[in-house]
Amino acid sequence: MKKVLITGGAGFLGSHLCDKFIDEGYHVIAMDNLLTGSLDNIDHLFRLKNFEYYHHDVSKFVHIPGDLDYILHFASPASPVDYLEMPIQTLKVGSLGTHNLLGLAKEKNARLLIASTSEVYGDPLIHPQNEEYWGNVNPIGPRGVYDEAKRFQEAITMAYHNYHGLETRIVRIFNTYGPRMRVQDGRALPNFFSQAIRGEKITIYGDGSQTRSFCYVSDLVEGIYKLLLSDYHLPVNIGNPVEITIKEVAEEVLALVNNPRAEISYQDLPKDDPKKRQPDIARAKQILNWSPKVGRREGMIKTLEYFKAVL
Ligand code: UDP
Repeated sequence: MKKVLITGGAGFLGSHLCDKFIDEGYHVIAMDNLLTGSLDNIDHLFRLKNFEYYHHDVSKFVHIPGDLDYILHFASPASPVDYLEMPIQTLKVGSLGTHNLLGLAKEKNARLLIASTSEVYGDPLIHPQNEEYWGNVNPIGPRGVYDEAKRFQEAITMAYHNYHGLETRIVRIFNTYGPRMRVQDGRALPNFFSQAIRGEKITIYGDGSQTRSFCYVSDLVEGIYKLLLSDYHLPVNIGNPVEITIKEVAEEVLALVNNPRAEISYQDLPKDDPKKRQPDIARAKQILNWSPKVGRREGMIKTLEYFKAVL
């Protein structure tokens, strides 16, 4: 049985990856310090023989007994609100944490996949964003703690690949949504769903004309799984290229939830908020034969069911 370590295993993406690797017949070790993750996300896995959970902060030395085939580094605060509140932890998990996991991968002769992000493109000056674009990031702005940690993460991962011949994979994840997003996460969709269900004001930042492209979590997980098992070591964008303004997203959520007490309210736009974002997924299509399957309506309905159940 192949063994995989998933850091951030109790988080939104990490827990869905745990499920995927369990389904595919792996032995899964989830590691988390529960800074933003929750054991509720993996509660259903604890009864399985081929599942283990380690409570640990990967910014500190990581020890795993025995063999390891794969490591997926998904530990990090990932919402702008979270990384504003936890700037040092965000920098450490992307830099020191990645260094520790590269060392572990080298020691175990394991393949490491790191979770990078569309944030490496910053507030992009080209559209859509392909993997050749170097980005437009403000290193000392509020988002710099996340963006620069992730850029460093890519750099050190490539260095271990080039210098030590380590097997590495880099996925650049674009906005993703679905069940197990934290209600308090602060990102657009968890905010809009919880506000609409509770009959509160839907907080659009700025005039809502900024765009994002939202990928349903099962599509993302499939892309990551394919990338891990591929032989391609350069960064690959994984996301859904269907682009939408934030105002339209808020209106879709309002229509879906249909709570007459909920209405839109406009708030200040956070500093350095990217104006446009859309993945160019030509590389993922060509190399992984991957493209997203779940349409937004289907994904939004599933996400709404989740938020209704937890609120
Ligand atoms: N946003 C918003 N209202 C909210 C939360 C977010 O209008 O309550 C906007 C935010 O300013 C950004 C977009 O929605 O333009 C996506 O923000 P999110 O925090 O989900 O992630 P980002 O893509 O910026 O990392």
